[in-house]
Amino acid sequence: TTGGNPDRPLRILALANQKGGVGKTTTAINLGTALAAIGESVLVIDLDPQGNASTGLGIDRRQRKVSTYHVLAGEASLGQACIPTAVPRLMVAPSTMDLLGLELEMASAPDRAHRLRNVLKGVGETGATAGITYILIDCPPSLNLLTINALAASDAVLVPLQCEFFALEGLSQLLRTVEQVRGALNPRLTIQGIVLTMFDPRNNLSAQVVADVRSFMGEKVYETMIPRNVRVSEAPSHGKPVLLYDLKCAGSQAYLRLASEIIQREGRLPVAA
Ligand code: ADP
Ligand code: MG
Repeated sequence: TTGGNPDRPLRILALANQKGGVGKTTTAINLGTALAAIGESVLVIDLDPQGNASTGLGIDRRQRKVSTYHVLAGEASLGQACIPTAVPRLMVAPSTMDLLGLELEMASAPDRAHRLRNVLKGVGETGATAGITYILIDCPPSLNLLTINALAASDAVLVPLQCEFFALEGLSQLLRTVEQVRGALNPRLTIQGIVLTMFDPRNNLSAQVVADVRSFMGEKVYETMIPRNVRVSEAPSHGKPVLLYDLKCAGSQAYLRLASEIIQREGRLPVAA
């Protein structure tokens, strides 16, 4: 995908894992904030009917007049759904519970898997999305049609993986789905990387899971791990990314390191300070 600036092409990343509670939304919010903090222009697309990414970015329900439901239903443009957040260079396209009904509404439409991809054609070039360099799509906790839309529209999948016992089992299922989407809908889809979340260094099981995931997925696993950190879990109730809530805490610092690691691995130069 090409954005407005040839030096900073637009990257579209789906945050996907069919397990709930593994850190997808937390990573969408805080990686988005960290990327914006180091100079990228970021749009978070909330594709979960729960709308936790929208809430965590400080967008209350009354502000969600135009949502991703309207965008996917063809009733509004993506630009119309974009709302600025308290973080400079970070916007969100919010979701509402209406998204729950969309799957049924789309079920027999021939373009049902490509709605989001079609919406994202030309994104970043003009209007509200002009100059955007990253889109992070926060997926619901299942491999449903919304997640399939995200995978069909993305350059790559970013997989948050919680350091717990059944982590690898869920990962295999997700990787099979990514294979299928690549074969049937989106040949350019790759795995961007796997980010280990809620790591607890005092927990032996956590360390064992890290070792297993690293030996199974090798280089695809980021060096940066997101520690379990109470500040990270407190921030959403204040409608703030943890980087605005407590920049110094271990969680904020980890998301900043993750953002740098991601742009480095892509071979992007940091934006000049
Ligand atoms: P998902 O979107 O995959 O369902 P969430 O991002 O909503 O997962 O995270 C699930 C819960 O875990 C939330 O209550 C969130 O605040 C908490 N959480 C996520 N990451 C961390 C972390 N690094 N430290 C502490 N709590 C976390
Ligand atoms: Mg979520």
